Amino acid sequence: MKKILVLEDEANIRSFVVINLRRSGFEPIEAETGEMALEKLRVNPDICLALLDVMLPDIDGFEVCRRIRATGSKMGIIMLTAKSQEIDKVTGLMTGADDYVTKPFSPAELTARVDALIRRLGVDEDERSSTELSSGPFLLNTRNRTLEKDGQRLKLTQIEYLLMKLFMENPGKAMSREDILAAVWGNDFKGELKTVDVNIRRLRIKIESDPTEPEYLTTVWGYGYKWGY
Ligand code: CA
Repeated sequence: MKKILVLEDEANIRSFVVINLRRSGFEPIEAETGEMALEKLRVNPDICLALLDVMLPDIDGFEVCRRIRATGSKMGIIMLTAKSQEIDKVTGLMTGADDYVTKPFSPAELTARVDALIRRLGVDEDERSSTELSSGPFLLNTRNRTLEKDGQRLKLTQIEYLLMKLFMENPGKAMSREDILAAVWGNDFKGELKTVDVNIRRLRIKIESDPTEPEYLTTVWGYGYKWGY
C-alpha cells in the first residue's frame, strides 16, 4: 500500500483526508506539526507523496516542502491552501510543490489529484498496469473500482462498474444479453434480460456524450451489446 503523509494541524480536516485516502487504498501517515512531519518522513522513507497544509503552529508548509526538496527527494508534494492564499501558489512553485488543492475540497477532488500526481510520477509502473484498464478516454482502476473519462472521475454503481470492466476487457466483441447477465449478475440470477438493457441505458447516460447516439457502448441489434471503441 502506498504511504501518503498528511500534514494538517486541524484535526477534523486531517481525519477527513485520512479517511478518504484509506478508502482509496492508500496508507496515510499523520502529522499535525511541521517538525512532526519531518520526523515521520525520516522514519518512513517509503512515503511516496505528501499533502502539506500551509498554516501550521510551528514551521509553515512551504518550509516543510523546502526541507523535503533539500534532501533531494523527488516525492510528490501537494499543498493544501486556503482560498484567500492565491499568493501562496506562487511561493509554492518556488519551493518545489507539484500541485495545489484549495480548501474546502471534496474527497473526489483530493483523490483525483493524488491519483493524477502518482500517475505523473510513474510510481509502481507494474502495479499500475495490472490494476488499470484503458480504452479511448476511459481509465478503469480495478483496485479502487473507479472509472475516469478524460481524467474526470465518474460515479458508478457496482453493477455499472462490473459492466464497464466486462466491456473494457472485451473490446470489439459482441456480447449477448444472456452472456452479460451471467457475467455481471451471476449464473444463479433469475432476473429478466431487460435488467441488462435498463442498466446499460443508465451507464450510457454517464459515459456517453450523447446517450441516444452511443459512441462507445453500442447496440448489436437482436443480440446484445459491444464495446465499440
Ligand atoms: Ca492549518
